[in-house]
Amino acid sequence: MRLTRHHELFRTSVRSVLERECAAVEDWEREGAMPVHDLYRTLGEEGLLGLTLPVEHGGLGLDLGYSYVWARELGRVASGSPAMSLSVQTDIVLPLLVAAGSGRVVEDFVRPAVRGELVAALAATEPGGGSDLAAVRTTAVPDGDDLVLDGRKAFITHGSVADFAVVLCHLTTPDTAASGLDSLALVVVPTDLPGVRRERYSAKLGNRACDHGGLDLAGVRVPREYALGEPGSGYEWLTRVFTRERAFLAAVATSRAERALAGALARARGRGVLGRPLAEHQAIAFALAELDAELALVEEYTGAVFQLLDEDRPALRQASIAKLRATRLERDAAEAQLRVYGGEGYLDGGPVERAWRDARAGALAGGADEALLHLIAGHLSTDH
Ligand SMILES: Cc1cc2nc3c(=O)[nH]c(=O)nc-3n(C[C@H](O)[C@H](O)[C@H](O)COP(=O)(O)OP(=O)(O)OC[C@H]3O[C@@H](n4cnc5c(N)ncnc54)[C@H](O)[C@@H]3O)c2cc1C
Repeated sequence: MRLTRHHELFRTSVRSVLERECAAVEDWEREGAMPVHDLYRTLGEEGLLGLTLPVEHGGLGLDLGYSYVWARELGRVASGSPAMSLSVQTDIVLPLLVAAGSGRVVEDFVRPAVRGELVAALAATEPGGGSDLAAVRTTAVPDGDDLVLDGRKAFITHGSVADFAVVLCHLTTPDTAASGLDSLALVVVPTDLPGVRRERYSAKLGNRACDHGGLDLAGVRVPREYALGEPGSGYEWLTRVFTRERAFLAAVATSRAERALAGALARARGRGVLGRPLAEHQAIAFALAELDAELALVEEYTGAVFQLLDEDRPALRQASIAKLRATRLERDAAEAQLRVYGGEGYLDGGPVERAWRDARAGALAGGADEALLHLIAGHLSTDH
């Protein structure tokens, strides 16, 4: 991504906002919750929730380089939770609503969400499976001017705190079957409607401050204008959402890997065994050098994916590759950091073990590793 002096000035200012507003992140992790609505209002006032959205919808109308810098700075925070939470709002749901939503969707959801008054969720995964779109069972059936939704969603970031969710479902009539890619649709559902039941997951491996939960929808009625895009375009929109989401998660993971590697290096230089710092033992020096080399490549590649997105070029394969490698690198760097910290890294509640726990989500959220490999393998058979 070609970054200018303006992007770098933005980096400096967003870094200081995040240092100030996420100063209590260690407490949030201990408590297992972050004050998401308060945080969003403050970040909304700073203009950070609509960086790349059009000015006429309340955004700042900036290029994707700002989204890249935003992701990289979120990845520098001491826990993965703020990045996981904010990615859903700024780079998954809101760009989708602007691109595919009706005027009413923009009025009812985009403007207030850019101000930080509403918190968004993307509800695609179901208890029956997240990797396989054929597992989607949730339906939206037209009834007069409304759609009536029934189904269950699982593992949703913001599942119990979101004010609205974009729900992946099959848009069907009473006579058509709820299956196949053609009937997939994305429908905006306010979570305070009758028939919506929210469940909070209280015990999780990582990203403990970030809310995750399930959503049950039983006869939930929304206006037809809350369906996104033209009928039959749900799969195409989902593909676009996944592309930007994966690029963003790759940029976040790049910074989280960088952070863990820096932590590992500092410890390896300061801790000695057999009369020499750990960093001077070849086994450790080479392990850290491997990570450093991979970081240089991942950083460059992820930046290039953002450049493709900024030029509005197709990039699902490239974004999937970036996410696969960057999140894997984050896990490897967190593992290396844990290793050089010895027994101290094993203690609960510290940044070292938290980085290791948080990194595991990268193999699932935004697409499981094998789901990404399945997609990349599919391109192998068509492109070669
Ligand atoms: C922290 C976190 C946040 C999340 N946030 C959201 C969210 O906001 N919205 C949302 O909709 N979902 C969210 N998810 C769900 C996530 O998208 C799913 O967990 C993921 O898609 C995998 O689906 P699954 O858990 O049902 O596992 P399954 O689909 O049952 O897959 C299980 C395992 O099978 C393997 N596998 C998958 N596909 C293949 C394949 N093609 N070949 C071989 N092996 C394969 C993988 O190892 C995978 O882990 C989140 C998950 C986590 C952990």
